[in-house]
Amino acid sequence: MDCIFCKIVEGKIPSRKVYEDDDMFAFHDIHPVAPVHFLIVPKRHVDSLATAGDEHAAVLGRMMAMAGRLARQEGATDGFRTIVNTGRVGRQDVYHLHIHIIGGPDPLPRMISKE
Ligand code: AMP
Ligand code: ZN
Repeated sequence: MDCIFCKIVEGKIPSRKVYEDDDMFAFHDIHPVAPVHFLIVPKRHVDSLATAGDEHAAVLGRMMAMAGRLARQEGATDGFRTIVNTGRVGRQDVYHLHIHIIGGPDPLPRMISKE
């Protein structure tokens, strides 16, 4: 399958790794929108939250449970935002499910703006 994040997980495309275990891989976003911006992905490909099911519950739970520890490790010591863009309406660009972890020293803009 021609998936850029599968290739990152497999080490075929370089990334700046934040964390790795049997189930998940975390790496810095190539176009950070804040001082801390990394992605957590399941190692096993799943397109998006729209197609995830019960069989993904354990890994998705583990990814969320790991977010705080990794965010602190990367310097987001006073909070952060998690974003999972899903599908066309959610403006998902890469169809390998990923959680954005975004933060830094300063508060982020409030949620999404009305364009
Ligand atoms: P999304 O719109 O939620 O699908 O976001 C995809 C994210 O992946 C964007 O923030 C991109 O900057 C990021 N991205 C795309 N290619 C790479 C890459 N090779 N390494 C790290 N991040 C990437
Ligand atoms: Zn993939």
